[in-house]
Amino acid sequence: MKIESVIKELDKLYDPPKSFLNWKTPLDLTVATVLSAQCTDERVNMVTKELFKKCRKAQDYIDLPQKELERIIRPCGTFRVKTKYIKGLSKIISEQHKAQIPKTMEELTGLPGVGRKTAAIILYAAFNKLEGIAVDTHVMRLSQRLGLTKNSTPEKIEKDLMKLVPKKHWGRFNTLMISHGREVCTAKNRKCRNCVFMSDCPSSEIKSEK
Ligand code: SF4
Repeated sequence: MKIESVIKELDKLYDPPKSFLNWKTPLDLTVATVLSAQCTDERVNMVTKELFKKCRKAQDYIDLPQKELERIIRPCGTFRVKTKYIKGLSKIISEQHKAQIPKTMEELTGLPGVGRKTAAIILYAAFNKLEGIAVDTHVMRLSQRLGLTKNSTPEKIEKDLMKLVPKKHWGRFNTLMISHGREVCTAKNRKCRNCVFMSDCPSSEIKSEK
């Protein structure tokens, strides 16, 4: 499928926020994005409601007893690892970045628990910077089904998409694809019959019925 028509059609259908996570500061967004690994945005938003009341600055995360942090974020899953990441990244930004979240892909991916996907989301949503395309499970599945990539790892898919998608759309592309992946092109029971890409999508189940 032509990337221009994919973006045009998705733009007509959805007007998603820059991120589906609730946050006020770049630190909030970083913590929420770390928590969102293998967890739904809804659950993260429930957890951060309590967490952000206790922690506003990096030093708050450093000072919060480990057991207390584990208790709060436990519903997000893999809570021991996520606690380690949050404590670790708070320490690094305190010591090396004047307690601020850094603004480059290189520095961000140097923080514990922050990969290219998380960094791309933070850069776009918090700093309006486009240095990559965040590839999550929805972006991955939809890109494959629409024939935008033949690859199966997020790293390689991101490279394919960065060649195809005009740079001005890199940030928005993630939330547009997530919206369609949640509403129509779901992992199971996709709704090809109700999909705008029904006739052109190489994976459309309607075409194969003909
Ligand atoms: S036609 Fe079907 S497989 Fe293709 S994008 Fe739409 S829902 Fe997904």
